[in-house]
Amino acid sequence: MRVCVIGTGYVGLVTGVCLAHIGHHVICVDNNVEKVKLMKSGQSPIFEPGLSELMQENSQAGRLEFTSDLAEGVEHGDILFIAVGTPALPTGESDTRYVEAVARGIGAHLNGGYKVIVNKSTVPIGSGDWVRMIVLDGMAERKKTPITVGGGEEVNRLIEQSPANFDVVSNPEFLREGSAVYDTFNPDRIVLGSNSKKAIEMMQELYAPLVERKFGEDPSLPPVPVVVTDLSSAEMIKYAANAFLATKISFINEVANICDRVGADVTQVGQGIGLDSRIGNKFLNAGIGWGGSCFPKDVSALIHTANDYGYETELLKAAVSVNQRQRLIVLEKLQHELKILKGKTVGLLGLTFKPDTDDMRDAPSLSLIEQLNRLGARIKAYDPIVSQSGLSHGLSNVIIETNPEMLADKCDALVLVTEWKEFLALDYTKMSNLMINPVIIDGRNFLDREKLESIGFRYIGIGR
Ligand code: NAD
Repeated sequence: MRVCVIGTGYVGLVTGVCLAHIGHHVICVDNNVEKVKLMKSGQSPIFEPGLSELMQENSQAGRLEFTSDLAEGVEHGDILFIAVGTPALPTGESDTRYVEAVARGIGAHLNGGYKVIVNKSTVPIGSGDWVRMIVLDGMAERKKTPITVGGGEEVNRLIEQSPANFDVVSNPEFLREGSAVYDTFNPDRIVLGSNSKKAIEMMQELYAPLVERKFGEDPSLPPVPVVVTDLSSAEMIKYAANAFLATKISFINEVANICDRVGADVTQVGQGIGLDSRIGNKFLNAGIGWGGSCFPKDVSALIHTANDYGYETELLKAAVSVNQRQRLIVLEKLQHELKILKGKTVGLLGLTFKPDTDDMRDAPSLSLIEQLNRLGARIKAYDPIVSQSGLSHGLSNVIIETNPEMLADKCDALVLVTEWKEFLALDYTKMSNLMINPVIIDGRNFLDREKLESIGFRYIGIGR
């Protein structure tokens, strides 16, 4: 099928590349000209395991193209994905201006042939109908500005007569950064919301190879469930899923804080409750709180939507405030160990909001850095991706080291912030010898406590 994906971030690029890989002809559009140049040269602007290889393979096969020209993308695609960012505004609501710009642009370039417009971005409930309205506005504006150069009359006539021949589908995305390609080929479910049978059928045809697990890890598994709903239920499914996961983490963090006080071990507690099939063992790791580009903004957007409709979300507000407090937990533990932080050196192991990504948006490391700066500590950091990139990522007063030993050198304490796998196998004996004080705060309960203690580290976890 002919597909256009607008916005080539973590979601759009992965979606475009994977849809090309399963056999569709995809044009990816981004208004960032530098990014498009990079992608045309075969390089991925983001780090995501397996993405670059697939990008190159499918570009070479002629199934994947990149452009900054929206008109070209709209002309090409029978299915048009909107996959631009929807960051949070200071009020907590979702900033939909990028979606609006794209929807208007699509309207201005529709050429009469039937199109399915897909909201892949996470957008507030009601956005399906709103996007339809903006696309129609875009069409109307275009009709008001006839083309005056050569051949314009015929085009103007076609535009004037072109019907609103499109439908909108909500198809929220559930991929996880760090395993986005894997998740796209092995989804838990595909959600399709629309009032148009024709549009749903086209989406089902698009996703058929994924539903049949032709590119999945285990093709013998039953087909991927496809959940077909109305527009607003599909939009709500995305927010409810993220709000549930964020609340689950806040829950185990609250339990961890009680464990800390009563002398229980939250890792054992998590295991004990996670074996209950009603609870499940995922998202029960206590730590320094949730962050990243989705949970914080999606939870606050849902709270905001509820408020708009006169409902106070007590549980979600509590999940947020537990998380805000949790982000300070490392600071409390450092103060307990080192007392005064002014003039002390703290080394951070990991900066990105989770392993296997280069994404720093709303990472817990950022709150920690801000607080350590405020209290006068010297901050060093080592992160497998950030240290390699040579970019400062806008971090102020942080010395980015290029290897873990340089990080440990003359540190008063280390803090594990991101659970990169390679941190399990560092030479902690050498690192402890380089430190002023062999203290390690394990912000993710990730490291081997016994091993570190046998080396001579003072190990402090979260809730254990
Ligand atoms: P991103 O910021 O990484 O990428 C957005 C891209 O859109 C950028 O490349 C930007 O240049 C481009 N863009 C902006 N305006 C444009 C325009 N007018 N025309 C063309 N391109 C334009 O965003 P992301 O992380 O991929 O998220 C996209 C959406 O998907 C968001 O709504 C997000 O909530 C949702 N989502 C993200 C994730 C995730 O893990 N990142 C997971 C599920 C859902």
